[in-house]
Amino acid sequence: MLEERARRERLLAHAAGIASACRKCAIGAQRRTNVYGEGDPCAELMVIGEGPGETEDLLGRPFVGRAGQLLEKMLGAIGLAREDVYICNTVKCRPTLPGPRGPKNRAPEPTEMVNCRPYLDEQIDIIRPRAILALGAPAAKSFLGKDFQITKMRGNWYEGPHGIALMVTLHPAYLLRQTGGELTAVKRLVWSDLKAIRAKLDEAPPVAAPEQAALFSEP
Ligand code: SF4
Repeated sequence: MLEERARRERLLAHAAGIASACRKCAIGAQRRTNVYGEGDPCAELMVIGEGPGETEDLLGRPFVGRAGQLLEKMLGAIGLAREDVYICNTVKCRPTLPGPRGPKNRAPEPTEMVNCRPYLDEQIDIIRPRAILALGAPAAKSFLGKDFQITKMRGNWYEGPHGIALMVTLHPAYLLRQTGGELTAVKRLVWSDLKAIRAKLDEAPPVAAPEQAALFSEP
């Protein structure tokens, strides 16, 4: 397993190096850092958000602002530390809009997500988690199409890349904008999604079919 971990770390580091030089989108020229992703290369759960925000762009790490702190609490509620999972975004550069006090965060545009998709696909391909948790509508739509409606369709299992189980829940940044009864209702939905993730990870790992197992047995 140590060799496999080292192999995956090497592959991810190589891919991150390539992404760090990418200027395929206009936001590639505006970013301060390329926020490739981080975490356990052998993680059973991969968490995918939409794109880096201001703090992430500054530090070069995903989910390190207030939303990141809430994500850590969400993961902690199902017994996972940040280091146990792999965290990244659909785009590796911070999407921004001009604002009176400097650039403001915005959701990634579909073309930016398409441009950046090979980097995300490569991460999924290297890590091959047992489950993917997509946070927020843009991340969900990048897997499930533009008609995905998060309020109606979150909380179900979908088939993600390589047949990996894919769950969608509300983005922690969205939770941070809620108050009072709205917040209570939204937290209840997210908790239900997190419990489904925990149950999926607790399922016995798939067993190789006999003909596959035979390939690796002693002759
Ligand atoms: S968002 Fe992705 S594809 Fe676009 S410039 Fe950044 S790394 Fe390249």
